[in-house]
Amino acid sequence: MSAQNNINYNTVRPESEKITYLETTTPQQTFAIGQELGRKAAAGEIYTLTGDLGVGKTVFTQGIAAGLGIVEPVNSPTFTIVQIYEEGRLPLYHFDTYRIVDIAEMDEIGYEDYFYGDGVCIIEWAELICELIPDTAVRITIEKDLEKGFDYRKITIVR
Ligand code: ADP
Ligand code: MG
Repeated sequence: MSAQNNINYNTVRPESEKITYLETTTPQQTFAIGQELGRKAAAGEIYTLTGDLGVGKTVFTQGIAAGLGIVEPVNSPTFTIVQIYEEGRLPLYHFDTYRIVDIAEMDEIGYEDYFYGDGVCIIEWAELICELIPDTAVRITIEKDLEKGFDYRKITIVR
């Protein structure tokens, strides 16, 4: 393990894996981090978003959408598992799997066309469908720490 890479891993991770820790204290800052990712996102990339209800997954997604040049409002898909936005630099496939009760629902919507397509996938509550997530996905976790304030968020990006 290299000198600058002094994190104690519990599991064996590939040498190439890069972890970024970020902290925000406003929704705007979380949005801005998503926006920066959206500007750089490439076709075929999958971003997973993990974190409790109300932590900021949709705010982060809205930032990614803005970074892709999407101007129409982005909200969590309520009645569908996936919401498609095609007006940006790349298609955005926004999944929210919170209400999934059976993984077969992912097959029913033809998820592979999105996961292995030419757009960018963002998946809120990806841990509920973890067996479907490719190893290549960028994994983003958002956490609160109430000792640091109500609006504090720690964002961990593993790619
Ligand atoms: P989720 O999709 O994870 O359920 P949302 O993005 O819908 O959560 O909501 C996050 C809420 O938390 C919003 O009301 C937002 O204004 C608020 N919030 C407060 N501080 C932050 C922060 N630092 N980053 C993101 N959201 C924040
Ligand atoms: Mg949400």
